[in-house]
Amino acid sequence: MDIQEKITKLRKEIELNSYLYYVEDNPKIEDYEYDKLFSELEKLENEYPELITPDSPTQRVGGISEKFEAVPHRIRLYSLENSNDEAELKKWYERVMKDLNPGAQISLFGGSHKTESDIQLACEYKIDGLAVALTYKDGKFTQGLTRGDGFIGEDITNNLKTIKSIPLKLFEPVDVEVRGEIYMPKSSFESLNKKQEELGQKTFANPRNAAAGSIRQLDPKITAERDLSIWVYAGIFEGKDAPKSHSATIKRLKELGFKTNKISVVKGINGAIKCIKKIDEVRKTLDFATDGVVIKVDDIQSQNELGFTSRVPKWATAYKFPPEAVWTDLLKVDFQVGRTGVITPVAILKPISLAGSVVSRASLYNFDEVKRLDIMEGDRVLVKKAAEIIPKVLKAEKTDASKPFSMPDNCPCCHTKLIEKENEVGLWCPNKDCSDILKGKIEYFVSKYAMDIEGFGESIIAQLIDKGMVKTWADLYELSLLDFMKLDLIKEKSGTNLVNALENSKNCKLNKFINALGIRLVGKESADILCRYFKNIDEIKKASLEDLNAIEGIGDKMAKNIYEYFHNEENIAIIEKGLELGIKPENAYTISDNLKLKGKSFVITGTLNEFSRDKAQEILKSLGAKTPSSVSRNTDYVIAGENPGSKLDKAKSLGITVLSEEEFKKMVED
Ligand code: NAD
Repeated sequence: MDIQEKITKLRKEIELNSYLYYVEDNPKIEDYEYDKLFSELEKLENEYPELITPDSPTQRVGGISEKFEAVPHRIRLYSLENSNDEAELKKWYERVMKDLNPGAQISLFGGSHKTESDIQLACEYKIDGLAVALTYKDGKFTQGLTRGDGFIGEDITNNLKTIKSIPLKLFEPVDVEVRGEIYMPKSSFESLNKKQEELGQKTFANPRNAAAGSIRQLDPKITAERDLSIWVYAGIFEGKDAPKSHSATIKRLKELGFKTNKISVVKGINGAIKCIKKIDEVRKTLDFATDGVVIKVDDIQSQNELGFTSRVPKWATAYKFPPEAVWTDLLKVDFQVGRTGVITPVAILKPISLAGSVVSRASLYNFDEVKRLDIMEGDRVLVKKAAEIIPKVLKAEKTDASKPFSMPDNCPCCHTKLIEKENEVGLWCPNKDCSDILKGKIEYFVSKYAMDIEGFGESIIAQLIDKGMVKTWADLYELSLLDFMKLDLIKEKSGTNLVNALENSKNCKLNKFINALGIRLVGKESADILCRYFKNIDEIKKASLEDLNAIEGIGDKMAKNIYEYFHNEENIAIIEKGLELGIKPENAYTISDNLKLKGKSFVITGTLNEFSRDKAQEILKSLGAKTPSSVSRNTDYVIAGENPGSKLDKAKSLGITVLSEEEFKKMVED
């Protein structure tokens, strides 16, 4: 194949994958595979610059769909240059130094680099989300666009207004355009995927795609249901009071009410490398996905001097963390049973070193996934460790040793015969006393998003179950110091810590407690929703199936599970035992006794004077009302503030009662 042919082939492949990623939010290859194609193309184009064309992917950014109105950006948005290792970072810095000090002898590699001339660099998390540009006039949010192709963005203003961390009104009446990254917290991504899976809908490959897919929904109501947030990382201020450095800009943005992230200003590239190492240590503990560290020249005058290429600013680079996916041999497919009793297949691997640890097992999730990946024992498999999430098999390739495996008949733990369940996929262990199911339940109960009880690692829980000391979560609260000291490696001090941790967990939040119960399909978000409607466990127990079904955000299947859970004598006995032993779940939400707006649906449009939109919705919800974001035939009232949008026209055309802010106030005051 000649060079031109190679370049054309690479461009086609990159364009197709860009389309799937940016427009469809449905990538088919991993990011690092895409990056490899991209750098191959860049390398060829560097060698043969005469073959570069203006429409090459190396000369452009992103993509744009036809779903939304296309609006030109006032000021262009760029992508970022990538650095994959220290040497590339140093090369970038050397270029920056040379451009800012023309004629000076600067070489970071030859040793003549003078540290006294080091420049200030700002280092910050590279958020793995979707770039947006937000315009504020007189301190009011007027328009929000996606990055699109950098010149033209998609108008997603209405969807952005549903994101609580995007201020609709700033603390000062200034004109400013800000840029930021819309993202979905990792925990919300996991629960969204779980929910999508249960509802038989499309799951997302990673938090970035979930965020992009959620913000680019035609119905803002769907966006509003997804837990999205923003980190603002740039602001364009004009006039003589404009901040003089990037770090001062971030400080100013924070003062105005924007959600900004940590930023470290360091001296020179060695300072930046130290900062990258620190970030690498903590990034797995963060609840947002980072795929690198962005390093920017802090001084804005220097940024202006450095300028841009056709695709990226010369004053910034994105250090990307190494890919966390490696090929290895799949030795065997094993099975395990989780807290719900469902059997999951697990890949037993030839051990590999991956993202700093040795990996010998990876999840295959469920039998559908095994089918989708066409997994056989003896395959070569690509394994990835995404953030702190358990390793997963991404791809399988056949070898001469590949052979099919057989499905289990019995539980891998207690050997009870497995069953299939009506309306459920997979195989299940029906034994309530199966010790792996019990271990899974207790591990879930003590975990961070549930009761958050420190010190209860896997081995302690396994011993408590295997020795028969604990059969349900409530039994934990009967354990004494002496009981704990019967366990391996537990001495007086560590035993006392466990007793204290249990004691401290008794005064818990109701939402965490509900989540901890492990009711099928009910996770962190649904537990929160229940707490906005019911004052305490007793009220949830008494709720009818219709009451549960009527709650916005609680689907039919979930409502049925909650109802059945609280109508099962065994579950009730366990909860009562827990409460008798001192657990006091407290509801963090205030719920009015007066649910006079129960079942009524209110949509707000325009800006209210006395209330933020969030506050107005909170009041309505506390009175039992629903607050969807779009108007439909089911809407009972539309509250129209200043500058109402098209929702008001729709309400009028459907004959829906329109309330002024005053009328709304009266209605809720009464
Ligand atoms: P990028 O994601 O590498 O970097 C640029 C973007 O980083 C900016 O537009 C901005 O949105 C974001 N960003 C996050 N934090 C930031 C911060 N603190 N300061 C400034 N910007 C910040 O570049 P890109 O052009 O958006 O996308 C290219 C990347 O997308 C590729 O490297 C690849 O990994 C991925 N991609 C993957 C596929 C696929 O099929 N898997 C296809 C296309 C692109």
